[in-house]
Amino acid sequence: MARYRGPKCRLCRSKGEKLFLKGKRCFSETCSFTRRPYPPGLSGPNLNLQRRKISDYGRELCEKQKVKAIYGVLEKQFKNYFKKAKNTSGLTGENLLILLERRLDNVIYRTGWAVSRREARQMVNHDHFLVNGKKMNIPSYLIKQHDIIEAKNEPKIYNEFEKPWLKRNGKKVEILKYPTRDEIDIPIDENLIVAFYSK
Ligand code: SF4
Repeated sequence: MARYRGPKCRLCRSKGEKLFLKGKRCFSETCSFTRRPYPPGLSGPNLNLQRRKISDYGRELCEKQKVKAIYGVLEKQFKNYFKKAKNTSGLTGENLLILLERRLDNVIYRTGWAVSRREARQMVNHDHFLVNGKKMNIPSYLIKQHDIIEAKNEPKIYNEFEKPWLKRNGKKVEILKYPTRDEIDIPIDENLIVAFYSK
């Protein structure tokens, strides 16, 4: 019998796509969505028939929930990111994703030093890193261009991500620039989130 994979996997199944919330398991055959790509509580192969049609509002809300789950951000904090994105020049949706990518826990994950953003957040909380030579244990810290993040101990490399905005060198990673939208590979339509907040 398939093992219960917890609320994160249920979220992928209810949203109808892989959100990569669990690290290594997401890339393996034990991924719950790979095994059962239909919403929790439903069964069988007629997935398209079983998946409910949702309204525009529902799709927008769903996209917001997805991005919050991917980056592990709560509602209040997310609203603040959105406000900040709106008050920055450029496209609000893109600004929003760039802000989320700049979170220190995300950068640790993108560097390949953690299997998931959740693990990266724990590592930051447990004082594993310095930023520009100073202790930094706030996962939501927003990195800036040319910041240098340094692991206190030799980090494990979980992924050989090649991110053009990050330069990893041993125990250090330098932020060369902020990522562009094309360099943020998450399955999100940020325009739906902007539409959600414009009502
Ligand atoms: Fe669970 Fe990851 Fe698969 Fe989502 S992608 S169902 S979080 S294992």
